[in-house]
Amino acid sequence: MGGRRLTGGSYPPVSPLVAGLTCRCPRCGRGRLFAGFLSVADRCQVCGLDLRTQDTGDGPAVFVIMALGFVVVAAALWLELAFKPPLWLHLVIWLPVTVAGALALLRPFKAVLIALHFRHGLMQPPDHRAGD
Ligand SMILES: [Zn+2]
Repeated sequence: MGGRRLTGGSYPPVSPLVAGLTCRCPRCGRGRLFAGFLSVADRCQVCGLDLRTQDTGDGPAVFVIMALGFVVVAAALWLELAFKPPLWLHLVIWLPVTVAGALALLRPFKAVLIALHFRHGLMQPPDHRAGD
């Protein structure tokens, strides 16, 4: 067991969901994952995991769009069918909900995706990045 692990270290396995939702390092579960709002730190301050090798691309945004879009569209449809409010009220309600929801979900979605990449060995070792 454990022969696939590319990452050394003697850390007990960290749940990708827990590491992601708490925005912590996917290997040790303690170091901070982010250096800014969405910018990932170069390396974990606790275990030294090189986080520059992560590349989730547009994945987090796609999942946020699908999850949040489903909830907001369903809620807007329900509101329209139940109360037939004027269009401006839809805008006043759903625009802030969408913006706030996207901002709130992007970080944990990105962190969970990075943790899942780490768990499944998809974080490329630095030598694969040569020539970037
Ligand atoms: Zn760490």
